[in-house]
Amino acid sequence: MKTITVLGATGSIGQNTLDVIARHPHDFRVFAISGHANLPLLVTSAVACSARYIVISNESSYAALKDLMSEANCHSEILVGAKALEQVSSAPEVDTVMSAIVGAAGLLPTLAAVKAGKRVLLANKESLVMSGELFMNAVREHKAELLPIDSEHNAIFQCLPANFEYAELQRSGISKILLTGSGGPFRTKDLDTFESITPDQACAHPNWTMGRKISVDSASMMNKGLEFIEAKWLFGLKESDIEVVIHPQSTIHSMVQYVDGSVIAQLGNPDMRTPIAYGLSFPERIESGVEPLDFASLADFSFTKPEKQRYPNLYLAIDACKQGQSSTTVLNAANEVAVQAFLDAKISFLDIARINQETLQQLEYIELDSIAQVIEHDSLARRIANTILGKLL
Ligand code: NAD
Ligand code: MG
Repeated sequence: MKTITVLGATGSIGQNTLDVIARHPHDFRVFAISGHANLPLLVTSAVACSARYIVISNESSYAALKDLMSEANCHSEILVGAKALEQVSSAPEVDTVMSAIVGAAGLLPTLAAVKAGKRVLLANKESLVMSGELFMNAVREHKAELLPIDSEHNAIFQCLPANFEYAELQRSGISKILLTGSGGPFRTKDLDTFESITPDQACAHPNWTMGRKISVDSASMMNKGLEFIEAKWLFGLKESDIEVVIHPQSTIHSMVQYVDGSVIAQLGNPDMRTPIAYGLSFPERIESGVEPLDFASLADFSFTKPEKQRYPNLYLAIDACKQGQSSTTVLNAANEVAVQAFLDAKISFLDIARINQETLQQLEYIELDSIAQVIEHDSLARRIANTILGKLL
């Protein structure tokens, strides 16, 4: 029996995690769940999984949560604030932490789980984008077990040889990591019409149902850029080891190419419960609720290269990755500011890349030697991005 904390339990990944856990009541129990805004869902989830603790971000939600809990006969204990997230991630009772808070807010609780040597199921890619090297050093130092949940990275993990050693591609005969992406809802849209894209259009992903921030990132392919950076740190890759390939059907979730000409791909229906289940049960396999692939009904597979003009954010991210930690931290912060402004209908879809690029240009590259410096630099980049945003309003 494994004991799990689910950070970001009310989100898309969080709910899928609770769904997989509920299918295996004899294998997993839930210690704590956290949520930010959707209190009714937090309470129904806590009741369904019998969570011992519910963590909320703000004291101001306490009274409303308490009322909902007594109505629902929910007996979980309430904890409040960022420190409480760290507590439930590092508590001695906990074996595994699902890191599924969106954005920079996920960094510190995920690191707390790492420092406590937990099995960490990493959905929150932003924490690696912000602090890759420091994060991976902490994983090694504290002997945490880091398992990727992002479908592409989970696929790569499944396609690597079992004895793969960090950064040792040559030794394993690997020539390339092929990171696939669908190209999002605007893959074939006329570029002249991009200025009028609405948030709902950007969030209508053709293959995946996800939270709104990652959906916008998928439409701009910033998501693939963040994943490029994530892959570099997870597996110890050089930028030249990674190739981004558009595969609109999202059936292949990524591939590893070997020197002998073999390409090993991981396939499946686009449903995050597959990587979540693999993370929870690794090295075993458990049933996840995902429909098996029906090959006879699959459309043709196609593959293209991502165009620079259509996906400027992808190339900003690859450039930032080459520059290093300070640039990826800045890009992540600017992008969070810009995507939120786009979702709030304050700026156009094209403004996201403008804000990201200008913020990168305005901030000088510096070495970031500690998490405190990363967080400080993240705040500085948000201030600059907000100033640039202000000029666009
Ligand atoms: P989501 O928006 O559906 O859920 C986000 C969760 O984080 C919610 O529980 C929300 O309450 C919580 N949250 C938001 N802001 C917070 C804050 N400031 N403090 C504490 N909690 C906060 O997002 P999602 O789609 O589930 O994505 C979660 C993470 O997983 C993201 O980092 C995303 O990039 C990654 N991811 C998601 C998918 C997917 O299919 N949804 C796939 C791969 C990776
Ligand atoms: Mg992904």
